[in-house]
Amino acid sequence: TQAISGEIVLQNLLETMINLVLENAGGKKGYLLLAHELSDTETNWTLEVIAHAGGPIETSSSPVSFETETRFPVNIIQTVIHTKAPVVLANASIESQFSNNEYIEQFQPKSVLCLPIVNRGKLSGIIYLENESTIGAFTKDHLNIVQLLSTQTAISLENAKLYANMEERVIARTQDLREANEKLTQLATIDSLTNSLNRRHFLERSKQEIERALQHKRTGIVIMMDIDDFKQVNDTYGHAVGDEAIRQVASISKSNLRECDLFGRMGGEEFAILSPDITLEAGLKLAERIRLSIKQTPIEILKASFQITVSIGITVITQDHDTIEQLLQLADKGLYQSKELGKNRVTAYTGER
Ligand code: GH3
Ligand code: MG
Ligand code: MG
Repeated sequence: TQAISGEIVLQNLLETMINLVLENAGGKKGYLLLAHELSDTETNWTLEVIAHAGGPIETSSSPVSFETETRFPVNIIQTVIHTKAPVVLANASIESQFSNNEYIEQFQPKSVLCLPIVNRGKLSGIIYLENESTIGAFTKDHLNIVQLLSTQTAISLENAKLYANMEERVIARTQDLREANEKLTQLATIDSLTNSLNRRHFLERSKQEIERALQHKRTGIVIMMDIDDFKQVNDTYGHAVGDEAIRQVASISKSNLRECDLFGRMGGEEFAILSPDITLEAGLKLAERIRLSIKQTPIEILKASFQITVSIGITVITQDHDTIEQLLQLADKGLYQSKELGKNRVTAYTGER
């Protein structure tokens, strides 16, 4: 009983159970079937374990179809299911009630013991034991022992099912949690309007990128970009169109960038770029390309079509300017000069005289 009550994993429980029963009842072969209640009127059955005394155990949870089943005598099993009472036969082949059965005719089992596993009036399984060579192998004592074990099994079965169900739920919950976490990470790192890095994440990623660049004695550039006269866009077309314009400017900018470049939305209509492994000269060309492609691509939203320009400031990563905050400040100075000089232009600001 202790061995059975100690098993919480369903398959282990069934194996332990059938082995104990075979040992204690003197059967040669044992089957264990489980009931799966679908509704008040419908129950599916599975054959879980086939065990041979001192031999191999076959564990395969396979569905039972009583109409076509040939692995065991269906008539005996169905009788036990209906009466919830044990059947003990001294010689199955000549007992009139059950002998007229394909399985019994073919295998000629002599002793049979079949009993229900019942817990609080509910049928949860069937144990079927047979001894094909000995007549009257199952005595009243054997039946008592198997009945005792089956009562304990019924309780342990319920626990094992609860446990399996709980494991499934834990797996499902873990999956839900993982998805929620991914969603949260997405929300925490990505700007939802433009699908680019948000300010915080741009700063974080830039730090890593600058560290890596300096470690490998490489350089890179940082750009600040601000849409020109954007208040007018909002005033003329409304805030919603303004939003869409910001989205399109981001998209045009990104189409000029490489996979390894960082593109972040730093605030309303301000963007920052970190492009690693390029010189200031190459960075100026890149900035100019972005400026031109924004200027030359008409922004088309609903019936409105208008042109947008941007002002850009650019700086370069050096040993002296090696924090993203410092670099953004320098780029911002360049941006400010671009605005001062009449907007729609690129200005480099490196802090060197
Ligand atoms: P400047 O050329 O000097 O940059 O002029 P500007 O009108 O673009 O001025 P500024 O950059 O200082 O202000 C940007 C305006 O953009 C302010 C605000 O009304 C608008 N804005 C900021 N964030 C958003 C946004 O998310 N959506 C929309 N539609 N408008 C925004
Ligand atoms: Mg602006
Ligand atoms: Mg601005």
